[in-house]
Amino acid sequence: MKIGGFQKNTLIDFPGTIACIVFTKGCNFICPYCHNPDLVATPKKVATDLFDENKIFNFLEKRKGLLEGVVISGGEPTLQEDLIAFSRIIKDMGYRLKLDTNGTRPEILAKLFEQELVDFVSMDIKTCLEKYHLVVPGKFDAKKIYESIRLLMNKAPAYEFRTTCVRPFINKKIMTDIGKMIMGASTYNLQKCSRNVTVLDPKFLKADHNFFSDKQMLELKAIIDKYVTTSVVR
Ligand code: SF4
Repeated sequence: MKIGGFQKNTLIDFPGTIACIVFTKGCNFICPYCHNPDLVATPKKVATDLFDENKIFNFLEKRKGLLEGVVISGGEPTLQEDLIAFSRIIKDMGYRLKLDTNGTRPEILAKLFEQELVDFVSMDIKTCLEKYHLVVPGKFDAKKIYESIRLLMNKAPAYEFRTTCVRPFINKKIMTDIGKMIMGASTYNLQKCSRNVTVLDPKFLKADHNFFSDKQMLELKAIIDKYVTTSVVR
């Protein structure tokens, strides 16, 4: 695994679980508001500054009974060739496992579900399928996003969908389209984009019109509430 970051403790990233976070390096998206720009590295940079996964396994051995789970986040973890093997080692140690994903590799999600290697999946939905070209450099089959949505809803032990709500990726019409895609889903989180962080495209933060007010966030929530059981503005 190409691991670009490691956080020893989190009480907020894995619902109901005291966990640590492994941040994988490399992503196939270029979301301008990305809060982990160091992890969205070019292939050349990916080879540098990596964490030794054996040190993480040693840490997990020592924390058995104290820590309950591991979050694998990124970057995009499903791009890692050995994600399945890495997940199995963590599960064999007795930890619960949560995966954060952008949903571009449903075939990897299917394997994780088949082999019962994951307990919770959090999937980002960036925009409606027609507009994914805004966050993906090059050719991309957006149907894969829909495939991942169906997989989560049918096979994941627990899941949530979430969207960072900023223009031009989200507006009322797009929120309706997302609602139709995830109709019947249990949980959807509408995330406000923090402007006090380093992001992939710093110019993006300077444009006020990219951001929704609290009132507008609640209007978006009212739209998605017609389609999902629970939604939360964060
Ligand atoms: S926000 Fe997520 S999907 Fe987008 S570039 Fe960053 S790590 Fe990749």
